[in-house]
Amino acid sequence: MNYTAEEIRNALYNNELCVYYQPLYVTMTSQLKSAEALIRWKKPDGTLILPADFIPVAEESDLIMEIDWYVTEAVCRTLEKQNMMPQYPISVNFSRKHIREENFARKLTELVDKYELPHPLIEIEITESAMVVEENRLFDWITSIRNAGFTVAIDDFGSGLSSLQFVKDVPADVLKIDKSLLSHNCEDEKERIVLESIFTFAHRLHMKTVAEGVETKEQLAFLRSLDCNKIQGFIFAHPMPEDEYLALCLAHKAAEEPKDILQIQSP
Ligand code: C2E
Ligand code: MG
Ligand code: MG
Ligand code: MG
Repeated sequence: MNYTAEEIRNALYNNELCVYYQPLYVTMTSQLKSAEALIRWKKPDGTLILPADFIPVAEESDLIMEIDWYVTEAVCRTLEKQNMMPQYPISVNFSRKHIREENFARKLTELVDKYELPHPLIEIEITESAMVVEENRLFDWITSIRNAGFTVAIDDFGSGLSSLQFVKDVPADVLKIDKSLLSHNCEDEKERIVLESIFTFAHRLHMKTVAEGVETKEQLAFLRSLDCNKIQGFIFAHPMPEDEYLALCLAHKAAEEPKDILQIQSP
């Protein structure tokens, strides 16, 4: 179903857009590490509309600019609620349109500072398709965000446009490997070779790696053997509403606390 920009704008102003969170885990240990914010449109009748059905239309207009900032502010409020625990960072997807937004890094800083949150708690995701923008402009944009203390991830890496030139020069912190590169059972030798090479060059270029769309035990075992840093996928968790995500953070925190009473009482 395709919605009009007008319908999406109304949804935004009527607070029907909400943010779900999908946890990311350390590949080797399955420890909760961070989350990704993913927008949902909750209709008054309760139906949930996925981004594929309205983000492309929003991207054709400037509405996407407002939506991404709206999501970022919602993320700040969620992080604020988390302040009793070790705070798990949250990544936010930004449309490539923001690359041309004036003073993007300053705007982000002002918003995050309003909530008094440490900047490393926010990660900006930009898809590799952003490469269609003039490369120097994209790299300057990424650098200005990192200079302000936030982290930057290249999303959907390997899904189409990536050139080796790009990987060599992009000043990002994280490469998120697109789910299309990962087959269901990971039995293909060529697939292993390609993924192994991606992880090797990413790590040697000082970037962290994330595999998305991990659904099977075979994929998990495969990614463990390849030294991938974090994984995201239905095998661990689907995107969930804020209250569920906060409860999950609390449960993880409790599970990681020292069980030994002597340890708890020691200064
Ligand atoms: P993305 O940023 O690559 O997000 C990951 C997508 O993969 C999410 O789809 C997530 O639900 C899905 N996913 C996670 N684990 C699995 C799995 O194991 N298997 C499968 N098949 N899928 C999995 P979602 O939430 O439908 O979002 C789709 C895309 O919409 C996102 O892809 C992102 O590009 C865009 N998007 C979402 N929220 C926002 C937003 O706030 N702003 C902007 N500009 N784009 C957004
Ligand atoms: Mg993303
Ligand atoms: Mg992605
Ligand atoms: Mg994707």
